[in-house]
Amino acid sequence: MKPAPFQYYAPKTIAEAVALLARLAPEDGRVLAGGQSLVPTMAFRLARPRHLVDINGVAELARLAVEDGKLCIGACVRHAAFHHPVVQGPLGKLLSEIVQHIAHHPIRTRGTFCGSIAHADPASEWCLVAAALDAEMAARSARGTRIIPAREFFAGIMTTALQEDELLTEVRLPLLAPDTRFGFYEFNRRAGDFAIAMALISYRLKNSVMVEPRLALGGAEAVSRRLAQVERLLEGRAPTAETFAAAAEAAAKAADPLDDENISADYRRGLVRTVVQRALERATS
Ligand SMILES: Cc1cc2nc3c(=O)[nH]c(=O)nc-3n(C[C@H](O)[C@H](O)[C@H](O)COP(=O)(O)OP(=O)(O)OC[C@H]3O[C@@H](n4cnc5c(N)ncnc54)[C@H](O)[C@@H]3O)c2cc1C
Repeated sequence: MKPAPFQYYAPKTIAEAVALLARLAPEDGRVLAGGQSLVPTMAFRLARPRHLVDINGVAELARLAVEDGKLCIGACVRHAAFHHPVVQGPLGKLLSEIVQHIAHHPIRTRGTFCGSIAHADPASEWCLVAAALDAEMAARSARGTRIIPAREFFAGIMTTALQEDELLTEVRLPLLAPDTRFGFYEFNRRAGDFAIAMALISYRLKNSVMVEPRLALGGAEAVSRRLAQVERLLEGRAPTAETFAAAAEAAAKAADPLDDENISADYRRGLVRTVVQRALERATS
């Protein structure tokens, strides 16, 4: 099937893009980034935007830079940019490891980091990273720019705090201290499929105990989020099998899993236990 008819716009600057969105968003105008989520839904006519504001020609949005201790990822930076570490240290390694789990190579060459965040699929790996690391989202509109913290940004399945006329211009991730350890584990049926459950842990090891733990869960719930009660359990404890098992159990209890005709909440809860345990085990290696 072909998409329903739409008007196409190709701004060259952020100012032009937000001016177009101010005018067209109320008439069902949408941003087109990599098109890897939007275009298939248009082809199936599940989405019928009347106007598409294509941001791919906005050179300012291709920015990938470190500023004030943060990695700033512009709206046109593709998933594939992370195939190799974009910064030295654990953050670069973490992103280059996780990107391998996103779809397949051709999709990664078009799809964008910010597009994933704006789309807010519960199974998006970048949404999990954003939640775990307390990312900041820069949202620009004709009214100006506002910074939205990750915990306020993700509001539900494919629902965010972005207003219809706001352009997500960049996402900022804090650089990680050089001694940060991280572990990621994702469960899906086939490589490249969306995650049914995944977990990301990071912590620092001081005097043989874990400090500053961050544990986030994705895929299993409507929104990726940090599990504060599990982090409290890890803080100040040695990274032992016993602690990991207790943390995995606590995560399974704390989870509020999605339930649908294909995958039950009970099955997902069991997966939460497994992915948390395995992410923790990976962080020690
Ligand atoms: C077969 C297949 C498998 C996939 N597997 C995975 C996977 O395993 N993990 C995963 O995370 N993703 C997966 N994806 C989705 C892919 O990562 C998309 O690239 C991503 O979700 C959206 O990014 P995009 O740049 O393509 O956005 P688009 O498709 O262009 O846009 C998606 C939505 O976000 C909005 N939007 C985009 N950018 C902005 C912005 N800067 N500001 C405001 N709104 C914006 C658009 O208006 C639209 O509503 C898969 C896609 C396909 C087709």
